Amino acid sequence: MLAPYCESESAEPIVQQLGLRGLELWQQFDPTLEVRGTLVLASQRDKAELDRYARMTEGHEPLYGPAIPHLEPLLGERFQYGLYFPDEAHMAPRNAIDRLIGALRSLNVDLRFSSPVPEPLWLAASAGGLVIDCRGLGARSGKIALRGVRGEMAVVYAPALTLTRPIRFLHPRFPIYIVPWGRGLYMIGATMIESESHASVTIRSTLELMTSACRIHPWFLDARVTELSIGVRPAFDDNIPKIGIEGKVISVNGAYRHGFLLAPALAEIVADHLEHGLGLPKELVLRDTYE
Ligand SMILES: Cc1cc2nc3c(=O)[nH]c(=O)nc-3n(C[C@H](O)[C@H](O)[C@H](O)COP(=O)(O)OP(=O)(O)OC[C@H]3O[C@@H](n4cnc5c(N)ncnc54)[C@H](O)[C@@H]3O)c2cc1C
Repeated sequence: MLAPYCESESAEPIVQQLGLRGLELWQQFDPTLEVRGTLVLASQRDKAELDRYARMTEGHEPLYGPAIPHLEPLLGERFQYGLYFPDEAHMAPRNAIDRLIGALRSLNVDLRFSSPVPEPLWLAASAGGLVIDCRGLGARSGKIALRGVRGEMAVVYAPALTLTRPIRFLHPRFPIYIVPWGRGLYMIGATMIESESHASVTIRSTLELMTSACRIHPWFLDARVTELSIGVRPAFDDNIPKIGIEGKVISVNGAYRHGFLLAPALAEIVADHLEHGLGLPKELVLRDTYE
């Protein structure tokens, strides 16, 4: 999801600010990017959650009754109230990565996969190069104090469902979202667990994700599970990404739950620094990175 407004429900203002720029840059990179907005829903019982979400965010309009099936006909009259964030976008992330790789190859960039970078980084830089270190948790050191936040997700195949935009379902204990990835696939995500375990998805998380998905629409009961997987998000203690500059080694890290959204904006800040000597936004400065 490229959702700068929705994410600001639990993020600092800089995340929305960078996210809006990130979204703009994704659109420039890929004019076919789906900008169909985000639909935020809650059951009648949890209407207070929706009111709270509306207070915490910008960029939305309220939806009542028939306005919801007007956007997503499949939902019919299942929900009475919602919020619509019309300017947000979504994409199937693996396709997006493939497109980025294609774009880099067409610029003759030498890409190497499964190749650990040589340590120490400053040695590589001292040979005349510039190192931009984006190793996520792999970059952790005494100075780069990252933690991991585990996220579990499911991908299901449900060709009968015709949802066209991300749906966030608010719930006091089990909030989830569903993102259409195209060709009948839906990503259901994601847990937020303070853990760096790469162990496989638990039954508890599977049940939470699947049960909430079926509350959005019971046809998810007949969906085929094609994937259950996990990722560990790199995060600093304030959940704001940081850029550290030590001579010719630049660290960009801590994108937390916004890596796809923020990456283009973070890259632009680094490029502006290198090409035009521009300073970094103060919230993003990581000091004493590689001393
Ligand atoms: C379930 C889930 C759903 C998410 N949904 C969204 C979303 O909708 N929108 C969004 O914007 N973000 C989303 N995120 C967050 C996003 O995925 C992360 O913010 C992002 O992955 C962070 O990117 P990164 O490149 O900084 O770090 P990582 O993704 O951790 O990548 C670091 C890379 O460095 C490599 N590496 C580490 N050490 C070395 C080494 N020594 N040598 C070479 N390579 C090394 C690793 O193998 C890895 O490939 C989601 C995350 C999860 C887990």
